[in-house]
Amino acid sequence: MRYHIWTIGCQMNVADSQKLAAGLDRLGWSEASAPEEADLVVLNTCAIRDHAEQRAIGKLGALKKLRGQGSEFKIAVMGCMVGLRADELERRFPFVDAFARPQQFAPIMEAIGYDDLGGEFWPGTFSQPDSVTAYVPIIHGCDKFCTYCIVPYRRGREVSRTIEDVRGEVEHLAGRGVREVTLLGQTVEAYGHDLPDAPDLGDLLRALHDIDGIARYRFLTSYPRDMTERIIDAVAELPKVCEYFNIPVQSGDNAVLDRMRRGYDIELYREKVDLIRRKIPDVAITTDIIVGFCGETDAEFRHTRDLVAELEFDKVHVAAYSPRPGTIAYRKLEDDVPQDVKMARFHAIEQLEAEISARINSRLLGAEVEVLVEGRKANSEGESMWYGRTRQNKLVHFRSGCGGLAAGDARVGDLATVRIERTSPWALVGVAARAAVLA
Ligand code: SAM
Ligand code: SF4
Repeated sequence: MRYHIWTIGCQMNVADSQKLAAGLDRLGWSEASAPEEADLVVLNTCAIRDHAEQRAIGKLGALKKLRGQGSEFKIAVMGCMVGLRADELERRFPFVDAFARPQQFAPIMEAIGYDDLGGEFWPGTFSQPDSVTAYVPIIHGCDKFCTYCIVPYRRGREVSRTIEDVRGEVEHLAGRGVREVTLLGQTVEAYGHDLPDAPDLGDLLRALHDIDGIARYRFLTSYPRDMTERIIDAVAELPKVCEYFNIPVQSGDNAVLDRMRRGYDIELYREKVDLIRRKIPDVAITTDIIVGFCGETDAEFRHTRDLVAELEFDKVHVAAYSPRPGTIAYRKLEDDVPQDVKMARFHAIEQLEAEISARINSRLLGAEVEVLVEGRKANSEGESMWYGRTRQNKLVHFRSGCGGLAAGDARVGDLATVRIERTSPWALVGVAARAAVLA
């Protein structure tokens, strides 16, 4: 029996899909590269913006058509499009065999004739790709209820995994050749508050640090108010923990942050960024921003633009506000910023950020950086190059064949030292300066 899983959305969704795949593999199923070759097709969906939902709905239409042409696969929809009650979805898409909420795999397993696999599917179960990087969820759900966001309604309340549980999974991944682990949570610094003795993210990082084979740890996504000096100190002290933070600010204006119910003001955000930069000099900080949120005036938007210019983020993920039925903003605030204004603000931030990241990255010209080698592929001119990321999560394409390193010498999973020869806002290009080493 064969399965095909289509995934969009955040890293948490990627991790959920891997977990389902691992469970199915354990039952003797194998992966099919196309829906028509599969017995089960799963769409792992995202509901964060309308556009993401529309893509899943488009896929469902295509699957319905394929089935009409004689393919006999079962169809399951999982992820954040599926709420507590699926009746509306069942009415709209009667040809779907199972609807499953995030991480609730039981309806899918029942549809193909099994009991729920239950819990986390490790260890000994992952037969996932030979990737040297892996995502490991450490806290599920979110308790924050920002007014624009659907996540708490779809992923439920915060539940942390125990340190032993996470350590067991990471040891298993290390045994499979994984070299870099990204610990995941919607607000990852909330980790542990619901566990006995309330360990924090710093305690978890310390508890994972000695696992042989793992060269790097990262964590996503940071929440300014939950970020403590204790956690920042752990990142500064632990050599395997990368100098990289993704801390969504969402807006540079206090009145907008208030309407979003983010629970902090710009002064607190700035303090956290300053503290991190003081304690971790080489750090890269990225952020998320929503433009065109309900009632956002030109002046309020200017504050966001000014903050981006002032704090010089390494990268900004910018999104135009998309009203989500069921959220507080959808019920109580008016989506009154016209679409063309949203798009103009979106492009203004993108353009400003391209200039900033071009400037930040250009400082790396001639520098030697550590790259975890992830693979090899052809660049736009058809030249085959290695690629990987720096500790600051910047993408690097590089050639070997210099400094005693013959072409082809680097290996996936090595930590290579790469001299940067070209930079752009989006990536770096270089040459391996020293033999890649297995840390
Ligand atoms: N938990 C993280 C945080 O506190 O920001 C982010 C989680 S959310 C899955 C990822 C990003 O989607 C957010 O940072 C936000 O910028 C964006 N997002 C969430 N809801 C949105 C909406 N209704 N419209 C546009 N963007 C949205
Ligand atoms: Fe959504 Fe806010 Fe939770 Fe992030 S912190 S997942 S934006 S509710």
